[in-house]
Amino acid sequence: TLSPPTLRELAEADGVRFILAVFVDLNGKPCAKLVPTAAADQLEAGALGFAGFAAGLIGQQPQDPDLIAIPDLTSYVPIPFVKEGLGIVHCDPHVNGEPWPYAPRVILKNAISDLARRNLQAKVGAEVEYFLVHRDDAGAISTADRRDDGARTCYDARGVTRMYDHLTAVSDAMNSLGWGNYANDHEDAAGQFEQNFAYDDALITADRVVTLRYLISVLAEQRGMTATFMPKPFANRAGSGLHFHLSLWADDAPVFPDDRDRRGLGLSPTAYAFIGGILAHASGLQAFLAPSVNSYKRRGASTSASGATWSPKKATYGGNDRTHFIRVPDEKRIELRAGDGSANPYLAIAATISAGLDGLDQAIDPGDPCGPGESRATSAVLPQTLLHAVEALRRDRVLLDSFGIEHPVGEYFAQAKEDEFLTWHNTVTDWEINSYLTAY
Ligand code: GLU
Ligand code: MG
Ligand code: MG
Repeated sequence: TLSPPTLRELAEADGVRFILAVFVDLNGKPCAKLVPTAAADQLEAGALGFAGFAAGLIGQQPQDPDLIAIPDLTSYVPIPFVKEGLGIVHCDPHVNGEPWPYAPRVILKNAISDLARRNLQAKVGAEVEYFLVHRDDAGAISTADRRDDGARTCYDARGVTRMYDHLTAVSDAMNSLGWGNYANDHEDAAGQFEQNFAYDDALITADRVVTLRYLISVLAEQRGMTATFMPKPFANRAGSGLHFHLSLWADDAPVFPDDRDRRGLGLSPTAYAFIGGILAHASGLQAFLAPSVNSYKRRGASTSASGATWSPKKATYGGNDRTHFIRVPDEKRIELRAGDGSANPYLAIAATISAGLDGLDQAIDPGDPCGPGESRATSAVLPQTLLHAVEALRRDRVLLDSFGIEHPVGEYFAQAKEDEFLTWHNTVTDWEINSYLTAY
């Protein structure tokens, strides 16, 4: 029998001269070494070490042994549209020969195994929204596209035409990778865009979100713009979400649809229990879906002229209604609307799966779906700041333990996020000077 091609062979066949060997930190930021294809055998053999502490937020201290990045060959693709002869491969960090439990990609793989033990697979779609901006020498940002906030910009035909070169470069890139880009649009706010690709297995989609953010960023940079996925770059404009669409499958058949449903959404008991679990853990989940200080400025309906932000305030679910934490667009999938552009896709999806699985294990009933704009007295009010989310996570033993019990990965994440909150909180802002300088 033929042995499967090595990374070097795959890359050589594509004319790839350099491979970006990528893993992400806790924030989902890609870290990489640029490996010449001639050295790909060494990379594959586990000879590529990283100082984990220097990469930051990966659960390592300066004294710890190297993180070894082991490439996952199924994730390898050539990306000549970024640089001729460039390829990319996602890696799983290992320490002492074991997958590193703090590595987000490892965490998602563990959650996928938890599903597999129940003979389930998750398919996930992700909606990536972002702004294209310019940054002046003083550090101030302005949209790279029109600034007339008073006008309706959502789906603006002229807006996508003005950004045609950038948007189509990204679209062509996605399609050359076989991702099935199916839409590119101008979002609610001036200078805000969304580019969509087909759903796939959870791990594949998480890798693609990381690759896509990288692609969008570098392709925008090549045109003199900065792409930003931060949740709320402009206080008076809509924020950028990262909505996840999720469905469960067993033996290649979807397990969410059920035409015997009496609750009106056409869902199975499994789907309702999964929803029940996600709602029950919604507050702690926010630490993963909305993991930055800035995330909480996107929350709720914005009063901006360019439209509502459509980010939920309460842990509710309903039918095809964009005001809920969970929207059920049709009987095949659910949409989680709380996720934002600062979410690490591996952790957000892993935590969502764990919450949903707890719903299955405990047969958690989500109650009847809420009508448009409706909520229940029992619907949790979602955390209002990152610190509230951290506190909710610290109270959520199920979510914390889902990241592994031997290593305190969940606690490490909570601590990193508390530190982030306090670093921001300890900054003296213009708002404080304006409000307090002569107030006493
Ligand atoms: N930009 C909105 C958000 O922050 C989403 C708008 C939409 O539904 O596409 O979630
Ligand atoms: Mg959108
Ligand atoms: Mg959506």
